[in-house]
Amino acid sequence: MSLVLLTGITGFLAAHVLDALLAHPAGYRVRGTLRSLSKKDALLARLAPADRERVELVVVEDTASSDLTEALQGVEYVAHVASPYQLNVQDAERDLLKPAIEGTLNVLRHAARTPSVRRIALTSSFAAVTDFSKGGPNRPGYTYTPEDWNPSTYEDAVKAGGEGAFAYSASKKLAEKAAFDFIEQEKPQFELASFCPPMIYGQTLQPGVTKSNLNTSSKTIYGLLTNAEKVPDNRLPLFCHARDVADAHANYFAVQDVPKTRRYLLCSPEPYTWELAVGLLAQDPALEPRLPKNYKDVAHTDAESLKAKYARLDTSLAQKELGLQFCGFKQTLDESVQSLLELEKGADW
Ligand code: NDP
Repeated sequence: MSLVLLTGITGFLAAHVLDALLAHPAGYRVRGTLRSLSKKDALLARLAPADRERVELVVVEDTASSDLTEALQGVEYVAHVASPYQLNVQDAERDLLKPAIEGTLNVLRHAARTPSVRRIALTSSFAAVTDFSKGGPNRPGYTYTPEDWNPSTYEDAVKAGGEGAFAYSASKKLAEKAAFDFIEQEKPQFELASFCPPMIYGQTLQPGVTKSNLNTSSKTIYGLLTNAEKVPDNRLPLFCHARDVADAHANYFAVQDVPKTRRYLLCSPEPYTWELAVGLLAQDPALEPRLPKNYKDVAHTDAESLKAKYARLDTSLAQKELGLQFCGFKQTLDESVQSLLELEKGADW
């Protein structure tokens, strides 16, 4: 059984990557890195006993600076998922740029010194692809391809500071670019693919999750259920189910022939808006009183008409090479909401 190193196993997406690896017919073993053992029991408790035996955990305090020699011992594949996804931080450089870029380079440098490593999957983002100065997702008729790159520089991000999505987006672009540059310059033994999804939604499965430490994307979904003043603004009306993103990572390790580097864009073919979301949620009378107060005043655009309104992503490589089919919005929203409703029944919520 091949051993996969999964960085940041305590995160939202990483929980889905773990499930995809454990369910994959290739039958992987998983070594997950976490910053401390405080969530260890909760993490393992979610798994079936037979799966638990295929998972080991190793403390890596900081992917950007820790020694990863032991963590990589005997590892064939690496899913580098850990990276800060926060949209409001005090210091863009300290809290986003350095952990993202140095975290990626530290993993790659150690992997290059570990002959058993054959392939690395890097979780990047549509944030690394899109050009916000040209409208980002608001480019009707435009199709983003793997050739598109967010043009922001390190200096732009430092200047913008830690408030809002700018520095986060730059951190993803610069980390991904650094990874491809590393391959070109150092010519290591492993292959590398990056995965660029827009918003990721789906069940909130990470250990120790509570209302106060919800990951950024689940927080927005939960915000629809907290009787907020208004329906949120539509910042990024494109998404991918977490399970699809996770399958992309797991399938990449199993396919036979891949080029030295690949960049996979991942996205559901169905754009969404929060107006569409609250319209769908209002069909459940139990949820209706929890929706944003103005939800009846907003236009409940149908899903079909949204396709002409926003940019698309060219996901053909992921469909063809990794066998992906993307989940639609209603199912993704339902699964996200149901898991949050389950979580809030817990004593620790
Ligand atoms: P989470 O905040 O749930 O997970 C982030 C993970 O990274 C956590 O495990 C966190 O550890 C770990 N981490 C952060 N900084 C460091 C560090 N310096 N050293 C070690 N570990 C660190 O977010 P997501 O699961 O949403 O994000 C996972 C990946 O997916 C990121 O790369 C993100 O950019 C990408 N992504 C997410 C999208 C989304 O909508 N969710 C969209 C597109 C891309 P700890 O648990 O200890 O805090």
